[in-house]
Amino acid sequence: MTERIFRPPKLIYGSGIVADIFPTDVPYAVATMPVPWDLVRGRTTAQAPTAVIMTSDMSMESLEKAAADVPPVDVVYGIGGGSSHDMAKFIAMKQGCRVIQVPTMIGGDAAVTPTIVIRQEGRVTSIGYVPVEQVVVDFDLIRTAPPELVTVGACDALSSITAIWDWRLAADLGLETWDDDLFRSALSVIERLRAGRYEIRERTDAGIRAIFEAFVVYAEMAHTLGGSRPEEGSEHFLAYNIEYISRRGFVHGQLLAVCIAAMSYFQSNHFDQTMSLLSDMGIPVDLEQIKVTEEVFIRALVTLREFVRQSDYYYSIAHHRDISKDEAVECLRAIQGWGNRVKQGACSLRS
Ligand SMILES: [Zn+2]
Repeated sequence: MTERIFRPPKLIYGSGIVADIFPTDVPYAVATMPVPWDLVRGRTTAQAPTAVIMTSDMSMESLEKAAADVPPVDVVYGIGGGSSHDMAKFIAMKQGCRVIQVPTMIGGDAAVTPTIVIRQEGRVTSIGYVPVEQVVVDFDLIRTAPPELVTVGACDALSSITAIWDWRLAADLGLETWDDDLFRSALSVIERLRAGRYEIRERTDAGIRAIFEAFVVYAEMAHTLGGSRPEEGSEHFLAYNIEYISRRGFVHGQLLAVCIAAMSYFQSNHFDQTMSLLSDMGIPVDLEQIKVTEEVFIRALVTLREFVRQSDYYYSIAHHRDISKDEAVECLRAIQGWGNRVKQGACSLRS
């Protein structure tokens, strides 16, 4: 998976800053959805954009059509969650204009990364790369989102817990080179998130900032490495398989929470500690919440090896071993056991 990687964007932090971000002298477009656009529009007196693109499904056809409807602009703003950010990057790629991202939730790292992701025939596919110039992190704006649509963003960096394990496996087998410096910086990102876990849970300025700073570190690593190895492993591949089987999209971080838990279980990689960390951050690890049935989850685990072999994914535990149905059920029960204890309030390290 060698990618063309650009330098990470400049992040601007503050409360109420969205009021002053729009240009006064150049044409601009907005890629968004009705709820985030209403939120942002109500907070600024800037001139109206040249075009407002409402993001719907992220099929290639919709993207092409939307981009064709946008007159030439100087800059496009992606306002909302991952789909709006990807749409903004797509329009910028077509026009060669600048991109500024304005997250109103944190479902994953799409605001920071250059990758444009869509789903084709049920598979998550990247279709291009565009450097993001700026990410405007308006704490108050982000706190208007439902709490779990902010905290789950951390999962797109906590994926390192299982991704690094996979990388080590590949290196031990002589399939990939190992980079001790990158390994140490990935570990320190996880440590910083762990240290900020209650700030993340409460969605304080520091907690929200910690999540974005983790994304930036990984974007820098991707720039150095030319790929996303330290943060993308079997947990992401399981997520892609669940999407493939379900034939629909998810809030990326919500799905990743379940997948990080599952793969840490199969890696025998600090499963209890990982569940405890997610719980402390207020991140649910819950199939019901993401409307994935037990049957689909088990099928995704059992077919994972076959699924990863059909794509150009990094070597991982998913390639390394089969998962039997009995093992998949055991993993599911282990996750559910934790979920029940969390619901009873018994597991938080804080209490
Ligand atoms: Zn991700």
